[in-house]
Amino acid sequence: MPVHSTCLGFPRIGRRRELKRALETYWAGRVTADHLLDTAARIRREHWTAMREAGLREVPVGDFALYDHVLDAAVLVGAVPARYAIVDDPLARYFAMARGLQRPDLGIDLAALEMTKWFDTNYHYIVPEIAAGQTFRLDATSLFQQLDEARAPGIESRPVLLGPVSFLRLSKSLQDHTAGATPLDALPALLPIYEELLGELASRGVTVVQLDEPSLVLDLDDRACAAYRTALAALAETPSRPRLQLTTYFGALDDNLDLALASGCDALHVDLTRGASDLEAILTRLPRTMSLSMGVVDGRNIWRTDLDRAHALVHRAVDALGTGRVVVSSSCSLLHVPIDLASESHLDTELASWLAFAVQKLSEIAAVADAADAPVPPDTPAFAAARAALASRRASPRTTRSEVRARAAAVDASMEGRSEPFPARAAKQAARLHLPLLPTTTIGSFPQTREIRDARAAWRDGRMRGPDYTRFLRDAIRHCVERQEALGLDVLVHGEFERTDMVEYFGAELDGFAFTEHGWVQSYGSRSVKPPVLYGDVVRRRPMTVDWSRFAQSLTTRPMKGMLTGPVTILQWSFVRDDQPRADTCRQIALALRDEVADLEAAGLAIVQVDEPAIREGLPLRRQDRPAYLNWAVAAFRLATSGAASDTQIHTHMCYSEFGDMLPAIAAMDADVLSIESSRSRMELVEDFATFSYPNAIGPGVYDIHSPRVPTVDEIAALLDRAAAVIPIERLWVNPDCGLKTRGWTEVEAALANMVAAARRKREAVELTPRA
Ligand code: GLN
Ligand code: ZN
Repeated sequence: MPVHSTCLGFPRIGRRRELKRALETYWAGRVTADHLLDTAARIRREHWTAMREAGLREVPVGDFALYDHVLDAAVLVGAVPARYAIVDDPLARYFAMARGLQRPDLGIDLAALEMTKWFDTNYHYIVPEIAAGQTFRLDATSLFQQLDEARAPGIESRPVLLGPVSFLRLSKSLQDHTAGATPLDALPALLPIYEELLGELASRGVTVVQLDEPSLVLDLDDRACAAYRTALAALAETPSRPRLQLTTYFGALDDNLDLALASGCDALHVDLTRGASDLEAILTRLPRTMSLSMGVVDGRNIWRTDLDRAHALVHRAVDALGTGRVVVSSSCSLLHVPIDLASESHLDTELASWLAFAVQKLSEIAAVADAADAPVPPDTPAFAAARAALASRRASPRTTRSEVRARAAAVDASMEGRSEPFPARAAKQAARLHLPLLPTTTIGSFPQTREIRDARAAWRDGRMRGPDYTRFLRDAIRHCVERQEALGLDVLVHGEFERTDMVEYFGAELDGFAFTEHGWVQSYGSRSVKPPVLYGDVVRRRPMTVDWSRFAQSLTTRPMKGMLTGPVTILQWSFVRDDQPRADTCRQIALALRDEVADLEAAGLAIVQVDEPAIREGLPLRRQDRPAYLNWAVAAFRLATSGAASDTQIHTHMCYSEFGDMLPAIAAMDADVLSIESSRSRMELVEDFATFSYPNAIGPGVYDIHSPRVPTVDEIAALLDRAAAVIPIERLWVNPDCGLKTRGWTEVEAALANMVAAARRKREAVELTPRA
């Protein structure tokens, strides 16, 4: 009996990002809903065709979503917040939840639901809201329709459902948290909906359901464990239901393994790229009634699978369980990788031979499943090609540079710390920089106008000559510096007009990175990112930012900040090599940045900012793994920055996350000045500083750049007052939440004028108050 093969889900955006175009033109009112829905149906058909052609035996259905799969789950169970009921049309209501809806003519002004990161990925999901006394109602219209579409001879379709416990844990409770309320309170009301759905699916001839419970790989408290026991038992006991595949991913089950094994489900899926440590325990303890779905092909990275290794794992399971109880699959949904390597025409053949995107991963799965029975890995073309690719990657001089290795090995503690402590540095910097109390600055980027994007496109495709493009950028910098001086800002920036993206720019300047043409990965809704491929040892060929920063400094007597992206963020937002520890790769990036900091200093820049917006998202899912990560991440930042002289001021910036639980690590980075997002949460972060006293200077963001709204002087002054209540005023800076590149100049100038005015007002108030 052959071993079954499948994948947990497929990227949704379409090979040419057709979904993006369809969504955005639909939102703009330029195409009909039917056009959008037809495009979506065509994309789904393409997925199933690709899976069939690769030879998979079972396809997921319901893994697709027009905007987000957690939002789909909320709609499926009727967890639609009451305020959206004002929108009649279901599709319009769905997008109102995802993006907000303003129709003054109809008296509608709805904000979007919150959005946050999906586990430790760079995908953002919509956070469902669970109200006090929340009721649910099954609305499976869309899922049933997709099931009908998927019906095809000879291939089984497996509906994908986000399980009830993970769904609630990913939601937010609108009840009073102080009273101990959590979204899990709604579980008894929610379970009957799942039971009803399972019954409906069985009556439609569905034989197996994929119940996604990724929360099973997290640290669970007693309540969550109890919720799992109740929920899984209830679902397993549903009369006449399809087989249930309890599906986990992104880590090992570890201490939650017993919950999964005792669930009463008919199959268990585990992520063996991250949780291989579970395998032996599973093979000895898996109940006879359960089969095992093995995630051996990585859904989180783009490297070709070591098929021999995958075969060894699968064959081991076949030996222990028999072919009928083993399924070969992807580790998680393939949502997190680009679609098809065949779309890449610019990658050199050697590098391309090392990679596998979603379509290629389907074939890898099929190859491993076909060979599962064989005691030794076969010599089929698929296995031979995988072996050859791996050997070429191991032997390639492009991945290993001895000078980089030697330098990284020679790093010692003295390179990971500034030569003097903060107070001594602060005194020297004050003497050099002459900044006022409450210095004002921005985060780095200024509006990337149409004009700038057009010029970059013209230069890229050869319509604008290099020297003309340089002149154009210099004019943009000059204009930006003039405006900042006119606004009265104290520490200036050059504006980052030469960068499309803060990671791509540095990746392109460093050896060891490659860029794809179509390697897009969904970030949220219609938005995608194209992470660089970090395949080899990292070498800085030449100074990367010095010319721009030196030029910008030459235009003004005020201090100009040199502007770099930090080592952890470059690592986090790339597809990272898997042939050495991430910590080692990060250290190499840090060394390259350390040289850049030195060159900026030598060029006369007295301030260098090294942004680390992604430092929080690298935090491992399990608490026990966090200290090790924070150790090397903080060390990498310190290695990048601590070669700076005491009178050079190092800034860093963080955003997009809640940082309250990692303030000690942030302090350990020892930047002289930290600018950090806080205004969206109305300075909730600042409350954390009441208990943790941050030792260096800090600028909690006082202007929410995510909104086109211009904050008033009074609002900003009020935020400054809140910050000043917990942070000594001598160490307080005044700045926006993040870079300004997505905003327009008019609103930016108005907002910054108000920010400067608020800082001045506060300065005067302090100077009038006699010191105790
Ligand atoms: N310096 C960058 C900018 O201003 C920081 C961006 C970010 O934090 N994501 O655009
Ligand atoms: Zn930011």
